[in-house]
Amino acid sequence: MGHVVVIGAGQAGASCAAKLRSGGYDGDITLIGAEPVPPYQRPPLSKAYLMGDMALERLFLRPEAYYAENGITLRTDTTVTGIDAAAREVHVGGETLGYDHLVLTTGSVPNRLPAAIGGDLQNVFAVRDLADADAMAPYFREGANALIVGGGYIGLEAAAVAAKNGVHVTLIEMADRILQRVAAPQTSDYFRALHSAHGVDIREQTGLERLTGDGRVTGAVLSDGSELKVDFVIAGVGIRPATALADAAGLALDNGIRTDAFGRTSDPHIWAAGDCASFPFRDAQIRLESVPNAIDQAEQVAENIMGAEKEYVAKPWFWSDQYDVKLQIAGLNTGYTDVVARKGEGQTASFWYFRGDQLLAVDAMNDPRAYMVGKRLIEADKTADKTVLADPSSDLKALMRA
Ligand code: FAD
Repeated sequence: MGHVVVIGAGQAGASCAAKLRSGGYDGDITLIGAEPVPPYQRPPLSKAYLMGDMALERLFLRPEAYYAENGITLRTDTTVTGIDAAAREVHVGGETLGYDHLVLTTGSVPNRLPAAIGGDLQNVFAVRDLADADAMAPYFREGANALIVGGGYIGLEAAAVAAKNGVHVTLIEMADRILQRVAAPQTSDYFRALHSAHGVDIREQTGLERLTGDGRVTGAVLSDGSELKVDFVIAGVGIRPATALADAAGLALDNGIRTDAFGRTSDPHIWAAGDCASFPFRDAQIRLESVPNAIDQAEQVAENIMGAEKEYVAKPWFWSDQYDVKLQIAGLNTGYTDVVARKGEGQTASFWYFRGDQLLAVDAMNDPRAYMVGKRLIEADKTADKTVLADPSSDLKALMRA
């Protein structure tokens, strides 16, 4: 018998605990989470759940009874305050829990707007937790004025939900273009046009000077000097890996909690997975902020705790829903040199990222076939003929046989 303690009852933590049990681990498993609810999926918090189209119960990854039925001690509303790596113990308030293996799945912390520019006013929201979504949802009312700070996926998804609810939305992005950090100009152009068609006022190269209001936010001054009347503000200004516990325990950090290819941290009894963990990928140490990565990496850690000694080979993919457009992304576009556009009917389009002749990634909008073909090619380390790709009448599936 042993004891695995998992800190962080989110997507990765729940996946790790479940995989340990289904894989035959017969020791004790304790899954500890700071939030007051069982593990749930976050993506709907800026999509269907925020829109009011998804019931709370459907957010939960597993029914609450699952944990007890599978011998997993789930402790919600409980924050781990320290790790004593030498003694192999974690501190939970005044209590101490011993472990044989410890798994850190502490996720991310959202960046907030600084209090000095009004970030602490009421009705200024981040979008990370269920509590955030529940707090902002009542303000998504016809005729309200919203300012969204940040043109990444979270900000754009929140903008789409707000616009669909009849909110007047202004979205500001400090960089030259929305999605600059994660996508090619073609993808930015696509989503800018989509949002503009739904009445969202997107202002690029525009920062936030300050928020104004007496207790509650009522206005905003932008970097170009313009002033807006606002009823609520959503900050989608990025996240940082939650590394405080690991740092205090003396674990190596490197853009997150540094792990080797097996998911082990610099302490052989401590593992990490999900948003908080960085890991070797090709010739770099990377960190991914996505559900598929959280699940796959956490399951790999569970198997390695059980002795598999298998390396984690990430197969990055991601999705985003905005209005009636489903974006699916396969691969990682880091280091791309050119982009091939393939335009289909209506809103169907895909953008293919290359480094020279190597296919790196694809952004597919309402085009599941392009996504599927791109994913298979990338995972098989195959490339695709650029002229064939650019011709919308060509048969994409034939590319897989080439
Ligand atoms: P989390 O799910 O964040 O879980 C970490 C948990 O650890 C949290 O509950 C936290 O409270 C807890 N914790 C931290 N410290 C402690 C402590 N000391 N003690 C106890 N508990 C602690 N990904 C996609 O692939 N597609 C999407 O469309 C998509 N949309 C998203 C939309 C939103 C609004 C958000 C917020 C994220 C979205 N993501 C999406 C990202 C995805 O949800 C995350 O990558 C994923 O949840 C990461 O899982 P995780 O387990 O690493 O972290």
